[in-house]
Amino acid sequence: MPIYELHCQSCHRDFETMAGINQESIACPHCRSTETRRLISHTHFRHADHWVKDMMGAMHRSKERDQLKKEAQQSIG
Ligand SMILES: [Zn+2]
Repeated sequence: MPIYELHCQSCHRDFETMAGINQESIACPHCRSTETRRLISHTHFRHADHWVKDMMGAMHRSKERDQLKKEAQQSIG
């Protein structure tokens, strides 16, 4: 499964995601900002094992994340 690397322009940290890449904005897992930008267009599998474990947790938290996304959109206006 492809993993995308993104950079948060709010807290200036990099993170990876493989879900929701088709969204217009991806919320930063560190500060919840949606001021993120995709760094690279190619895929890679660095830290894949670690990431899959995170993803499993993220799936369980999907409802929570949807709520956070709504809040983020509201804050942007
Ligand atoms: Zn951030």
